[in-house]
Amino acid sequence: MTSGDVISLMFDTHCHLNFKRFKDNIKDVVDRAIKAGVTGIIVPGTDIHTSKVSVELSNQYEGVYSAVGIHPHHVFSVIPNLFRDLNKKMLKPVQHDKNLDVKELEKLLIHPKVVAVGEVGLDKFQYTNTKYQTYQINTEFIEAQKQLLVEQIKLALKYDKSLIIHNREAKSDLLPLLEKNWDKKLKGKTVFHCCEPDLELLEFAQKYDIFIGVDGDITYGIEKAEFIKKVPLEMLVVETDSPYLLPEPLRKKKEYPNEPKNIPLVIEAISTLRKCSFEKVERIVSVNALQLFQLPEYKGSHDSKHNTSLIGFHIPSKNTT
Ligand SMILES: [Zn+2]
Ligand SMILES: [Zn+2]
Repeated sequence: MTSGDVISLMFDTHCHLNFKRFKDNIKDVVDRAIKAGVTGIIVPGTDIHTSKVSVELSNQYEGVYSAVGIHPHHVFSVIPNLFRDLNKKMLKPVQHDKNLDVKELEKLLIHPKVVAVGEVGLDKFQYTNTKYQTYQINTEFIEAQKQLLVEQIKLALKYDKSLIIHNREAKSDLLPLLEKNWDKKLKGKTVFHCCEPDLELLEFAQKYDIFIGVDGDITYGIEKAEFIKKVPLEMLVVETDSPYLLPEPLRKKKEYPNEPKNIPLVIEAISTLRKCSFEKVERIVSVNALQLFQLPEYKGSHDSKHNTSLIGFHIPSKNTT
């Protein structure tokens, strides 16, 4: 860091501080992030409960911002009939009750530190460690996910928020749905979080000005690493997806869980893959994060005492390298 008033800019754009795993040591996790220079953290919800916890955390910690939303795997929580129907192997079309939990999200969206709707999307991955014991990935399940996603895109538009998209093995359903429900207000304010290594996703993202979220798995996943080499730096934001996706070399040492303090490892991996300086990647992904979540430029305090708290962000001067 060469400029006196540039405070560390690193930003974890996707971190589940709202999960049980962090319940008992949240303050330590945040302190360790600050020490590592990670002063901004976005905490996405995955259901109503974790969305509420995310909003509470954003109240408690200055650099923590919230996203609220229902993850596609939790579609059962808003459409309980679907789960019952699946168990009975009924094939009738899903009736989406719009008066259920989606309304709860609206109450959270008016909070000033809620910057996005997320994480929302489509997911065709068969999870084994899940509370929905007997669920199957079938037409009804995906149809319900689609309905829920459309509802939540509408919320992002209505409340003028950014959009965090989760996609797992569902590209062929996701891209047409986004195309159909797209609004230019989402341009530059949407991210494919933990983006699958797929050139079609990249092309779509380029066309619609969507950011690509990069995680610690680029330190061990060859396909992901190759993919990231092809994505322009101006499209990248970094995330830990804590407590998941622990990057190397911590993964070998089994230093679980992943934490936002590990964001520098993701930036370092990008800089190695792209053969450019850590500082350059840091600066670009930070500016990208500010734009993605429409955060105001932050003029940091010159009082060094404040460097130990989460203080917000500001755009670095262009002449730092
Ligand atoms: Zn996700
Ligand atoms: Zn997530």
